[in-house]
Amino acid sequence: SNKPKIVVLGAGYAGLTTTRRLVKTLSPEQAEIVLVNKHNYHYESTWLHEVAAGTINPNQARVMISDVVNPNRVRLVYDSVVEIKKDEQRVVLENSELSYDYLVVGLGFESNDFGIKGMAENAFAIEDIDSSREISEHIEYQFAKYNNDQNAEDHSLNILVGGAGFTGIELVGELANKVPELCKKYDIDRSKVRIINVEAAPSILPMFDKELVAYAKKSLEDRGVEIKIGAAISECTPEGFVVGDDKELIKAGTIIWTGGVKGSSVLGKSGFELTKGKVNVDGDLRMKGEENVFVIGDCSWVWNKEADRPYPPTAQLAMQEADVVAANLKALISNQPLTDFVFNDKGTVASLGHSDGIGNIFSGYKIQGKSAATMKKVVDNRSLLLLGGPKLVLKKGKFRPF
Ligand code: FAD
Repeated sequence: SNKPKIVVLGAGYAGLTTTRRLVKTLSPEQAEIVLVNKHNYHYESTWLHEVAAGTINPNQARVMISDVVNPNRVRLVYDSVVEIKKDEQRVVLENSELSYDYLVVGLGFESNDFGIKGMAENAFAIEDIDSSREISEHIEYQFAKYNNDQNAEDHSLNILVGGAGFTGIELVGELANKVPELCKKYDIDRSKVRIINVEAAPSILPMFDKELVAYAKKSLEDRGVEIKIGAAISECTPEGFVVGDDKELIKAGTIIWTGGVKGSSVLGKSGFELTKGKVNVDGDLRMKGEENVFVIGDCSWVWNKEADRPYPPTAQLAMQEADVVAANLKALISNQPLTDFVFNDKGTVASLGHSDGIGNIFSGYKIQGKSAATMKKVVDNRSLLLLGGPKLVLKKGKFRPF
């Protein structure tokens, strides 16, 4: 047939939202749609710190793609993208190949350790369900073996988290809830366990103002999290982080790096021109100089003209970009003019464990404590609503009271 073929790579916030929008706006006669994803499930990346800490079941954070996308309308391909050959309009997958007329790249993020020596080899990273689930299993195993192992060293119970951005802070917030539970379960005194957060910058959570940062820091420290700011990590060894000018070795049985992310490594392998690991796109979200390739979510570098800097990568941004890409694909197919992306910032909420948090909402209105924790659950449930409708909210939503 001569229907145009749209191929969407990645079923994260960006790719899944694009696909669902396309299904709503294009009839089967107008375009063939193909969605490619590594797994047969979508996961909520913004919940991965909870999976890593073991405070939610991994299954709560994932959804079968065929439950939210009609497989009779969209061809679902569960395979890994290896390389995009844009000059040939082809995508190479691990087990097959695909051609396309229009491409949407939404392959998301990977951990970025900025080349710190030993980090890739010795630290865990939060990247997807598999890597996050392994962290919680590893932590629990340290506790399980402690009383049963004559040679167990005290520091094996320590949990070291590198980076005090969004992910690092949300993770230690969950750990502050989880560690007392593990102590009870495995008959270990809470004082034997250290949760240590190490950050090179002079402050945690650079995206929030001083007042909220101070609140977050106190909340975490009151619950036994040690926060070391202005402490650069020069190396990660199998035993822990080497930190600061005096090269102190902080030892831990669990070492996690959350200090940075970059776009999918497929971008580089495909020979794309990159800015800080991401693809520079035009206002309409097409790759510069390309007619038929859109790049969105954590793979793209989208300029915020007002602020004169790129938008920080968030799920909120990815989902809004997806709406514009779906509309622009429809416009391309029907020879209409494309529209430029405009971000509508609904605010940011960071959790500090299950029942605490901080946030900026409605342009500048600050919240903290239980109201922020409640707002976070509203945001998380709204994400499910957008991705899968009310049924998905009932099935996977967050309703546990404080
Ligand atoms: P992703 O959600 O990463 O999706 C990428 C998809 O592509 C995945 O399904 C993946 O399996 C698939 N994929 C990857 N590589 C391949 C391949 N080679 N072949 C096939 N498939 C592949 N943002 C917020 O707005 N608010 C928050 O509170 C927030 N909290 C966060 C907390 C944590 C712990 C983390 C890690 C991130 C948080 N973020 C938050 C950021 C947000 O998660 C990302 O910006 C968002 O996930 C980007 O969406 P995406 O669709 O580009 O990528």
